[in-house]
Amino acid sequence: MHPDLAMLVVLQSHDIEAKRLRGQIAALPRLVAALELKAAATVGQRTVVLDLIAKEEALRRRQESEIADQKQKLARTQKKIDISTTSVQVTALEHELAFARAEINRLEDAELESMERGEALDAQRAGANQAVAEAASKLEQERARTDDLLARDRAALAEVDAMCAALRAQIAQSDTGEDSLSTYDRISRSKGTAVSQALNQKCSACQMMVRPQRWNDLRDNTPGSESSQTLMTCENCGHLLYYDPARDAPQPKPAESIPAPILPSL
Ligand SMILES: [Zn+2]
Repeated sequence: MHPDLAMLVVLQSHDIEAKRLRGQIAALPRLVAALELKAAATVGQRTVVLDLIAKEEALRRRQESEIADQKQKLARTQKKIDISTTSVQVTALEHELAFARAEINRLEDAELESMERGEALDAQRAGANQAVAEAASKLEQERARTDDLLARDRAALAEVDAMCAALRAQIAQSDTGEDSLSTYDRISRSKGTAVSQALNQKCSACQMMVRPQRWNDLRDNTPGSESSQTLMTCENCGHLLYYDPARDAPQPKPAESIPAPILPSL
């Protein structure tokens, strides 16, 4: 293997880890933001319930005041009846009396209905209070967890970035190092990764077969061989190919050579 390539393989593993950490560092605040929205929504829902409760209470105060008015009217009318002298007058006043009684009945029924709605709203308020408390507690927990994770991720990222910088400096020291690094960066930018392992005669990045001659060249590790002097690329996807004899496992036997167990039919 080309000596730069061996170091580029390590560099890529650091770069992949750095990318993972950056992704996690970016995603964690979004998770907290989503929980903040959820917590704000529960507060909004509780506000709606509290408004409805206030409206019912105002309605009942109005109803009670109207009932009191009607009762006073009833008493006044009763006094007028007591001092009335003609039957025409009495009939008219009794009509008023009946109207006031009917009105009191209607208002008392309406007040009962309002009290029933109030009880249902009280239950909703208890639920809303619980939802607000739960969302706030979850948000607080998640904030603490996220702060902790962020601190750890940032420290790990600083470490990985330092390892990348040191490795790049080391690669740049060889005659071909600068060129190798710029090739690595160019492929990395366009494909996400630059280096791909050739495993079982296939490129791991695109799964295409490596031609036999190229496969032989890749595995030829003798001094002066092509693979030790040049950076070889996959002819299909353009990744830099490397061969690791330790990981190139022998081909597994075809599945049909293993007899399938015969299951008893149920
Ligand atoms: Zn490929």
